Amino acid sequence: MSRKVIVLSEVRDQTLRNVSFEAIAAGKVVAEGGEVVAVLLGHGVNSLTDQLFHYGADRVRVIDNDQLKTYTPDGFSQAFLAVLEEEKPEGIVIGHTALGKDLAPKIASRLQSGLISDVTDIEVAGGHIVFTRPIYSGKAFEKKIVTDGVTFVTIRPNNIAPLEADSTLTGEVAEVSVEIKDLRTIVKDVVRKASAGVDLSEAKVVVAGGRGVKSMDGFEPLKELATVLGGAVGASRGACDADYCDYSLQIGQTGKVITPDLYIACGISGAIQHLAGMSNSKVIVAINKDPEANIFKIADYGIVGDLFEVVPLLTEEFKKL
Ligand code: FAD
Repeated sequence: MSRKVIVLSEVRDQTLRNVSFEAIAAGKVVAEGGEVVAVLLGHGVNSLTDQLFHYGADRVRVIDNDQLKTYTPDGFSQAFLAVLEEEKPEGIVIGHTALGKDLAPKIASRLQSGLISDVTDIEVAGGHIVFTRPIYSGKAFEKKIVTDGVTFVTIRPNNIAPLEADSTLTGEVAEVSVEIKDLRTIVKDVVRKASAGVDLSEAKVVVAGGRGVKSMDGFEPLKELATVLGGAVGASRGACDADYCDYSLQIGQTGKVITPDLYIACGISGAIQHLAGMSNSKVIVAINKDPEANIFKIADYGIVGDLFEVVPLLTEEFKKL
């Protein structure tokens, strides 16, 4: 059965986040040959529509409004519901990001719809669209199908590959007019922590440090390796609690959940709460001086050794490539 599917695009610093393109690819599977309509909410975002077509959107709906300059639950839900009201889709796909995790349940409750959250895989099997999502902090996976109502899902970033971009693709862009009112919160200013390099949640390579790095300076060799690999630096909560790095780097159950192509864990023991944030990484490399460390149980490659010797050696070798 073909469906009309709405996918929400995410913008940060006037740039579309990768998850926007992954949502289009997911939307194509859910649409089963139907139409995929990308929705762009923000201010000064009109120039971004071309890219959405290149990655497979059939149509784009835009709400460009200065009240949507930064995310607020009230503003974005009013805008998104206005589009849903006009389009009446049979499917909705949103990224399982900080924004998506906040917005999707609110929208689902307003639509009186079910919601399958944190989807990592979508396939068509036995005449159904089957959604896979992790449970029990990533220790098991469940498969779900929708039997009635709107198929509403959030997708975990970096799991569903975007379609190959085709710059010849184009389509119709239409604005949706909506009066955004009664905002209970207004964001006056956003002050970002200074962070250089690749965004941790979207990085293809992550070099993460734990309590084993022993100090703030201990993160320096990890930063160098991450730079050489074009990746980002992450951390265990042990390292954050010890003040070796900022909490914005924390990966795990109470930190960020990431799925890079390569995860290099340095001086991290592999507590269950840490694994919850990274065990789906495509390739896991662990460097730990304790051969019994739990992290080796899930690592694809393990190096038993002192991270302060191993990490600089890796950096030198990767520099040669
Ligand atoms: P440790 O467990 O102390 O491990 C340090 C490792 O470094 C050891 O394995 C040691 O062998 C190795 N090492 C030491 N020196 C070197 C060296 N020179 N070279 C190589 N290896 C070396 N943790 C998270 O990470 N993320 C979360 O989101 C999170 N959420 C939590 C939520 C709750 C409710 C609770 C209770 C805990 C949570 N934790 C979380 C904490 C978690 O249980 C662990 O305490 C934490 O992950 C341990 O961090 P660590 O591996 O860096 O430290």
